[in-house]
Amino acid sequence: MKKSNYDGYLKEQLKDFAFKARYNQAVKAFDVALQIFTSYCPQCRIVTNLSESITLRTIPVQNGKTKTLVSKTYHCESCCSFVRSEDESNYKLLIDCK
Ligand SMILES: [Zn+2]
Repeated sequence: MKKSNYDGYLKEQLKDFAFKARYNQAVKAFDVALQIFTSYCPQCRIVTNLSESITLRTIPVQNGKTKTLVSKTYHCESCCSFVRSEDESNYKLLIDCK
């Protein structure tokens, strides 16, 4: 990832011990919130275990070449309802077939 002005600012701020402690707490809270957000089943209305399925889809691109796109879909383990899918563009795993 490209570094921004903010990266330099943050690096400087993290030299302050009190700031670094608060920052680390915020990062942990964010990770927990993200985990809850990404594994919440709207059908069961609880945070649940998810089953993951991976789909490969081959699409034509320029010059007769094809690419395989990988997408992941998550379903609730309890009720099997769809919870979320991850956009293929989030994946760096684009496999050149030809
Ligand atoms: Zn469910």
